Amino acid sequence: MIQLVRGFRDILPDEVAVWQHIEQVARDRFECFGFSEIRTPVIEQTALFQRSIGENTDIVEKEMYTFPGSRETLLTLRPEATASVVRAYIQHKLYAKDPVQKLYSIGPMFRKERPQKGRYRQFYQINAEVFGIESPYMDAHLIFMLVRFFEALDIPGLRVHLNSLGCPECRKAYREALQAAFIGKMDLLCSDCVRRMDKNPLRLLDCKVPGCREVVSDAPSMSDFLCADCSVHFQTVRAGLDAMGVSFEVDPRLVRGLDYYTRTAFEIQTDALGAQSAVAGGGRYDGLVAQLGGPSMPAVGFAIGMDRLVELVLARHPAGVRPPELFFAAMGAAAWEWSFQWANLLSEQGIRVEIDFSERSLKALMRRADRLGAKFVLIVGERELAENTASLRHMETKEQTAVPVDNLVAAVKETIRASDS
Ligand code: AMP
Repeated sequence: MIQLVRGFRDILPDEVAVWQHIEQVARDRFECFGFSEIRTPVIEQTALFQRSIGENTDIVEKEMYTFPGSRETLLTLRPEATASVVRAYIQHKLYAKDPVQKLYSIGPMFRKERPQKGRYRQFYQINAEVFGIESPYMDAHLIFMLVRFFEALDIPGLRVHLNSLGCPECRKAYREALQAAFIGKMDLLCSDCVRRMDKNPLRLLDCKVPGCREVVSDAPSMSDFLCADCSVHFQTVRAGLDAMGVSFEVDPRLVRGLDYYTRTAFEIQTDALGAQSAVAGGGRYDGLVAQLGGPSMPAVGFAIGMDRLVELVLARHPAGVRPPELFFAAMGAAAWEWSFQWANLLSEQGIRVEIDFSERSLKALMRRADRLGAKFVLIVGERELAENTASLRHMETKEQTAVPVDNLVAAVKETIRASDS
């Protein structure tokens, strides 16, 4: 039998309700904060990711699914969403209509990482991006929205980690300070870090290799290098969060795995997931729109890891498919013929119906109805039909009523709806 590819997975019907619920909460909440949905393709030109995420990152160096397209362009399955949304913002000149755009998207991302619990090669993210607002209040507003979203899903014990990565100006001095701090310790660093030291020393702060982590533990902090403007920006983000009662920890080692971040960077973490502790991450990327050929435009956004979030929700609320409201138990050819028509009409009118057209005993049919958790069973037999009725049984109360065949659809619908109120 052909099995699914390692690192990929199926999301089975039992779990899908949780995914849908999370998506619905995101849509409802984000719309209240002024966001609209955008959908971009999963394939983009490789150059888009190289130029945005950064050449010296794990994603671009090792993790992209890249393949030849037509006319010698390389194509890549998107490893993240921001680059695509920025491309769409520029390509469709969304800024000309209104420079301020608040966009969210939901969909799969692809990274060739080592598969393990909580880490997949196709994983799902909910992304939010805001263009055209430089104010630090926007950063705090976004983090507030994110925290409230997790609360709406009843996720306890989340921690907000916050840092400022400064602007290209103040970061220049920080990069030099990092290089000076690491230069004498090259033999303790992994080969990736040695290679990245020259162009991208900030990446070292994100390295997971134990030796590198130790070297990094007493590295200089970005906060000591922030210019006056970046410092005020960071202070205002913190004050905004304080004002809204959102607790956070300033984490001077937080750099995130993508190069485009400027100023605010944040991550939402939990202890409940073991090693893969981040459920969301984001930050400001004021330089990216211009870098990809658009106008100079500030931006800030985040990505929520849905796979890990589903796990957190499931730990508290076991899932399942929604049970049918009406199960058909019909006996005999004439009964099935009628049931076929009624089931079509009732499904069409919004009742969750289960019908399997099987010739089985009433006992066997009732057993299946019970297993599915059906609310009502419609029993249709030769005797009932002869009397122009069918029996509607409430599975919980065991109450059974006779419904007239010539008005069956309306009568059944009415009874089911009445039992809901
Ligand atoms: P990033 O795009 O790397 O900033 O990641 C944002 C969020 O996506 C992380 O906090 C994770 O929750 C989730 N995520 C990233 N990579 C994976 C993966 N390979 N498998 C599952 N979730 C992931």
